[in-house]
Amino acid sequence: MSPLSSERAFIHIAKPQLGDEEKAAVMAVLDSGMLAQGKRVAEFEARFAEFCGVKHAVAVASGTASLWVTLMAYGIGPGDEVITTPFSFIASSNCILYVGAQPVFVDIEPDTCLIDATAIEDKITERTRAILPVHLYGQPCDMTAIMDIADRHNLIVIEDACQAHGATFEGQQVGSFGTGCFSFYPTKNMTTGEGGIVTTNDDALADRLCLLRNHGQSQRYRHEILGYHFRTTDIQAAIGLVQLEKLPAWTEQRIANAQYLSDRLRGVRIPTVRPGRRHVFHQYTIRVPRDRQAFQDHLKEQGIGSAIHYPCPIHHQPVYTSLGYKDVLPQAEAVAQEVLSLPVYPALSEADLDRIVAAVNSFTPPS
Ligand SMILES: *Cc1c(COP(=O)(O)O)cnc(C)c1O
Repeated sequence: MSPLSSERAFIHIAKPQLGDEEKAAVMAVLDSGMLAQGKRVAEFEARFAEFCGVKHAVAVASGTASLWVTLMAYGIGPGDEVITTPFSFIASSNCILYVGAQPVFVDIEPDTCLIDATAIEDKITERTRAILPVHLYGQPCDMTAIMDIADRHNLIVIEDACQAHGATFEGQQVGSFGTGCFSFYPTKNMTTGEGGIVTTNDDALADRLCLLRNHGQSQRYRHEILGYHFRTTDIQAAIGLVQLEKLPAWTEQRIANAQYLSDRLRGVRIPTVRPGRRHVFHQYTIRVPRDRQAFQDHLKEQGIGSAIHYPCPIHHQPVYTSLGYKDVLPQAEAVAQEVLSLPVYPALSEADLDRIVAAVNSFTPPS
């Protein structure tokens, strides 16, 4: 591509990286004729567990399925409450509804947009079974505080790490504090097309997850418990094995891209990264306190994609208000009006990053 045409190309908000290695890995599975969950899935699980520093990883059909099956495996259900954030993709909270339990929302820290760990304890009741923090945008939540609260109140911790592959808190991988849930949707930091995985050090939980994802089947046509079909395929696992190899370099590049932007953007609030946390920048999300729509339109005219993660907090979604949720969560409500994610994916060139900077810095608010 000539420099001129690449200069004109629209820079989308996300771009999955798929190369010859992924294609070859998929072709090898197709040639084998064995498409369903098999040895590639087992290998992917072993590698992903190793990557997270945990004993087990159980691959499932999506990030949503990873959260759902984890809540089921813990036997969380009607009458139980699960504490979570109102500021996430809706799957984080929907999985709590799927099992018949109640999401209980705790407001967020206004700068990081992560659940405010200092506000969790006020929401604990005798019905509380679990805390479900979300490592939003790729930045880990305060896991020291959350694990401490969970220990003191005997609660389960389910980490929604769907945006945080490879993120660390005080050097420890997310998904290894509590039970970790990851997504491999195409725009995530690594992909398998669609897919998800659960990480845990608990042998019994891992066994139960394996039963639940496969119709409760312990041996062929022997069904121990009511299970479901949450399996993934060897085709997806083959892609995942290649992507996992590439993830560390991509993560470095995401972090470098974020730093490049943060060093140069003017007139907007750049992301806050707390000390001790490795933020893997699934999203690079700035704050535009005024004229966000005009700002986004300006970026689009300059050939830069952007997105709002998220325009409406979960408790204000029609499905939640119709369920009777009327919480007032001022930080989540305010932040939803200001956030804007810019492209940060690893394949951006320095020229692309410069175009993003120039577009942001040339915005003049409508008078
Ligand atoms: C993507 C995502 C999910 C759901 O993952 P799917 O693979 O799309 O089902 C859950 N939680 C968060 C925070 C996500 O970003």
